[in-house]
Parts: sequence; structure tokens; C-alpha cells
Amino acid sequence: MNPYLRSLLYIIGGEIAIYVGIELINSESKDITDEDITENIKESIKGTDIDFEPDDSEILKLNSVRKTLYKLYSEKLAQFRRIRDKSTGWFIYYWWHEFDLLEEILLEKKKLIDSKLRDRLEFEQNNYFFMCKNCEDSNIKYNFDEAFEHNFRCPNCGGPLEAQDNQSIIEFLKNKIALIQNTKISID
Ligand SMILES: [Zn+2]
Repeated sequence: MNPYLRSLLYIIGGEIAIYVGIELINSESKDITDEDITENIKESIKGTDIDFEPDDSEILKLNSVRKTLYKLYSEKLAQFRRIRDKSTGWFIYYWWHEFDLLEEILLEKKKLIDSKLRDRLEFEQNNYFFMCKNCEDSNIKYNFDEAFEHNFRCPNCGGPLEAQDNQSIIEFLKNKIALIQNTKISID
């Protein structure tokens, strides 16, 4: 399994998501039900000490597999169709993976993190905060407008409000942004 995919699956749903992912890959030629996925995983971990339900005598519950599949679905990594079983009236869910979208999904996540960091950087660069040295422990910050309103005097003790140095935060954010930009995401 592709290491990016493996990591992403683990982040989304833990160890069990990797097992579910493997089953989805193994049944690429035909869609598979959540019941069959559960049975296959049980079979594959038989004889090992892997136990997905440590508080239970069962080693894996259908419900845990379903929850994992829905997590993958909400991250756009899996899809399903459902068919009503005529004899029982219950729905049968057939699943397949959308792992081909992995590169796209990772790039999307990268873009999201990048834009959040940039927003934060812009905020830090545009917002000087003022603090009172005497009342530093209280950790109260004033933005420019608030400090101006108080005549740059601490409303607590009357001491001077001094501009706080946020250069270290700005440096930190710039480094993070550079790091993310230099991270190449390639699935092949
Ligand atoms: Zn003060």
C-alpha cells in the first residue's frame, strides 16, 4: 500500500482503517459489503494478537467497520451504493474505494493548511498587541485601537502599555509556510 495512503487512512480512522482500506483494494474488481469486509478482516487477523475490540470477546464488530467506512466516505476516500434486500427489507451496502483521488485530497489539505497559516501570518503582521509589563502575568493583550482608547496606559495599574514583539511568531509562521510549500506530494 502506498505510504501516503496508509498514513492518511491511519490519521482518519486508526489501525482498522488500514485494514478496511486493504480489503477495499482487494475487492477492486467487485464492490464488497461491509459484512464481507468484516469477515475478511477477522480471517486475516486470526492467530495474531490484533484485537479491535479490546473490551469485548469479539475481535472485530461489524459496527466498527461501518463507522470506519463512513469516515472514509466523509473524507471522499470511499463510496457506496445500497440495495434493499427483498427478503429482509434491510439495506445492503456495497462499498468501493476512491483512492485514485488521494493526490487531489492531499493537495487540497495542503492548500487548506497553507491558507490558514497565511491568514494567521497576515493577522500577526497587521496586529500589534500591547501589554502592560507590570501586569504581564494577567496576559491581557490590547490591540492598537484598544491601547489608543486607554491612552497607552494600563487600565489596571496605570503603567505604560508596550507593543509586544510578535516577530518570533511571525518567523515561526513563515518557516512553516516555506516547509509546506517545499513538501512535494507525489503518489507515483
Ligand atoms: Zn498594568
